[in-house]
Amino acid sequence: MSSTAGQVIKCRAAVAWEAGEPLVIEEVEVAPPRAMEVRVRILYTSLCHTDVYFWEAKGQKPVFPRIFGHEAGGIVESVGEGVTDLAPGDHVLPVFTGECKECAHCKSAESNMCDLLRINTDRGVMLSDGQSRFSINGKPIYHFLGTSTFSEYTVIHVGCLAKINPLAPLDKVCVVSCGLSTGFGATVNVAKPPKGATVAIFGLGAVGLAAAEGARVSGASRIIGVDLNPNRFEQGEIVSVIAEMTNGGVDRSIECTGNINAMISAFECVHDGWGVAVLVGVPHKDAVFKTHPVNFLNERTLKGTFFGNYKPRTDIPGVVEKYMNKELELEKFITHSVPFSEINKAFEYMLKGESLRCIIHMDG
Ligand code: NAD
Ligand code: ZN
Repeated sequence: MSSTAGQVIKCRAAVAWEAGEPLVIEEVEVAPPRAMEVRVRILYTSLCHTDVYFWEAKGQKPVFPRIFGHEAGGIVESVGEGVTDLAPGDHVLPVFTGECKECAHCKSAESNMCDLLRINTDRGVMLSDGQSRFSINGKPIYHFLGTSTFSEYTVIHVGCLAKINPLAPLDKVCVVSCGLSTGFGATVNVAKPPKGATVAIFGLGAVGLAAAEGARVSGASRIIGVDLNPNRFEQGEIVSVIAEMTNGGVDRSIECTGNINAMISAFECVHDGWGVAVLVGVPHKDAVFKTHPVNFLNERTLKGTFFGNYKPRTDIPGVVEKYMNKELELEKFITHSVPFSEINKAFEYMLKGESLRCIIHMDG
């Protein structure tokens, strides 16, 4: 056991006090983990667009003050009562959606929508007691996605932690904790393009490019990337352009933008008779998907997925092994890095569309 086990830890965290305002590095108190919880020392975290949406809180419920962050790598500091799968020193990737291993979803081979630990973007507290483990002068600071990795230490439910190979470099495999797995899995686990298929990817951020990588390893004959400034192009034009390019539509499409019009286009551009579209982007809270029902009658399929349909504890250690065995490249998704003290730069890079993933070094 570490000397800090069972005690409150004081450390640095990047606190979002208000929507859209730069994060402020503060000293926070992190309470010890309770039953089925784990306290993790975060070494590296990166920024995913989902953090940015909920920080901007334009189309999402505002919950502040909050500690964002869900794509990260760290080391277990201490464990709460009842935790037998993890011990101090284990290397872990936090995941925004969990796996209790007991519910109907966890027992189903098809689902990763755990009843207990599925993604909940509005909850800012721990499940067990409805309280936050973070505070400043006794005032609670809310959690995000059960992970809150923009903190040197964080408390996470054991079901939201994948135990990985300790030899895997955390500054690289941290991107497996959300973006890479989400995009890659959306293609290989959900869209499942047959060999030779044509695949369209909407949104070429890290998630979309990981989806394209999934198409490449599946043996796609053609991968069409769509990324546009919605002010400059009519989304509708894209559907006819893709139809022309592919003789009636693509075999598979994967939407990785969060834009409702792109979602509709991603569906309408798949070939009738067999085409499958998969939605991945996080939509505005009031978004409504509208298309003519005949598009379904003509035998097109629409699906959606969180985290690429991977079960975090069961499947993610294997995705990390793929990287270790050089079957999966991660370096190409990592375009920037900043010290923790400059975390706001990572937001700027993403908002300007300059970065894919920016790795934030917690020791800096
Ligand atoms: P990103 O900002 O790096 O990339 C998004 C890309 O989409 C950008 O290049 C942008 O120019 C493009 N884009 C925006 N609107 C578009 C439009 N109308 N048409 C075409 N392209 C458009 O973001 P990211 O981190 O790669 O995340 C992509 C999406 O996936 C986000 O919505 C994010 O919230 C979501 N996400 C979902 C899951 C999940 O489990 N379902 C997990 C992680 C991220
Ligand atoms: Zn994410």
